[in-house]
Amino acid sequence: MLRVAAVEPSSLSSELGIVPGTELLTINGRDLGDFLDFEFLSADEAFLLHVRTPAGEEIEYDIERPEGLPLGITLEPPSIRRCSNRCDFCFVDGNPDGARRTLFIRDDDYRLSFRHGNFATLTNLKQRDVDRILEYRLSPLYVSVHATDPEVRRRLLRNPRAPAILPQLEEFASHGIRFHTQVVVVPGVNDGPVLERSLADLYAMGDAVLTTAVVPVALTSHSKLDLVRALTGAEAGAAVDEVERWSTRARRERGEGWVYGSDELYLNAGRPFPPESDYDGFPQVENGVGAVRFLQGLVERERASLADLRGRHVLVCTGRAMASLMPAILETVASVTGATFECVALENGYFGPTVTTAGLLPGQAFLEALRGREGYDLALLPAEAVSDSGVFIDDLSLAEVERTAPMPLRLSYTFTDALGAEAAA
Ligand code: SF4
Repeated sequence: MLRVAAVEPSSLSSELGIVPGTELLTINGRDLGDFLDFEFLSADEAFLLHVRTPAGEEIEYDIERPEGLPLGITLEPPSIRRCSNRCDFCFVDGNPDGARRTLFIRDDDYRLSFRHGNFATLTNLKQRDVDRILEYRLSPLYVSVHATDPEVRRRLLRNPRAPAILPQLEEFASHGIRFHTQVVVVPGVNDGPVLERSLADLYAMGDAVLTTAVVPVALTSHSKLDLVRALTGAEAGAAVDEVERWSTRARRERGEGWVYGSDELYLNAGRPFPPESDYDGFPQVENGVGAVRFLQGLVERERASLADLRGRHVLVCTGRAMASLMPAILETVASVTGATFECVALENGYFGPTVTTAGLLPGQAFLEALRGREGYDLALLPAEAVSDSGVFIDDLSLAEVERTAPMPLRLSYTFTDALGAEAAA
């Protein structure tokens, strides 16, 4: 059922009298199953919208609107499509008891893949889903391939019924759908020759596969460590070599690198990150591919707009993954703002020390790191560690951390956001 959560004041929908709680039934006689149906079927300038009001009255609106005028409706959140796999490395198994409830949802939803760039395996598609992807031309899709060999992929996904991925992608590609893909590398399963074959198969699909990210498996101390282990430095290095072999070829033949190792892969391998220009506009930066180079470049370009913080002392809290890269970034930021910066790398006591990304740090880690640290004028915390509703992964609120910290806090994704805001304050 598709229901209205909110209506923008003075919007077309509020003028029509649509209110929160209204059920959206059909557009031009077609049933509305979810937000995709609504968005695509309401894209025309004129259509018939059939609704049921909270009082149970059914109304049909004959809607005409100038091109681009939004309806002003926010829908209730969609129910998430559940995953049909049971990967040994699933992040859900890596959660400790008591983690945020949403972290226990194994989602595998092609709709969110299209809308938000979430990776999906496409193993749970029904014929109706395939038809919708084609009808609505949901492109690009973000697809977790992991291995193009069907048997290896079934083993990785722990799903004996997973369809072969290449024919699936090829069928979609023949209708113009494009993909960003990723390979999560699990040592002894899909590295070495399997990785080589997967990259060769994906590369052979031509421009249907826009980019490929190669990411090391991420485990926590709660993961199924009897079944899966992290890459060694040498294994990560071999994966980097494979990536760079293909990216060199792709750059020569297609003008872009096409395949990219994630920052974690380079860190694991102990190799320097490629230069910013090798990331071709950072198509998978949200997937941790090139995030460091992206940040460094941004600080450099925006140095003129950062606050003058001469004489101030700023503490930067981050995860251990970024800590080794911070000195170079902070040197630039310090020279622009005049402040002195100090970085504290927090260990993840919630997921365990193998989880080093800042975004998964629990509130408790910040609480402990900031407690009693006098002498700072400001502390920057990674914005990605806090949900939209202001809580960390362990359900501790930002407000709670702010209450006990001895200095003002700012959330920051990029330094330039927080220090730009300081300049404006
Ligand atoms: S595809 Fe694997 S990692 Fe992703 S949610 Fe499903 S079981 Fe977990």
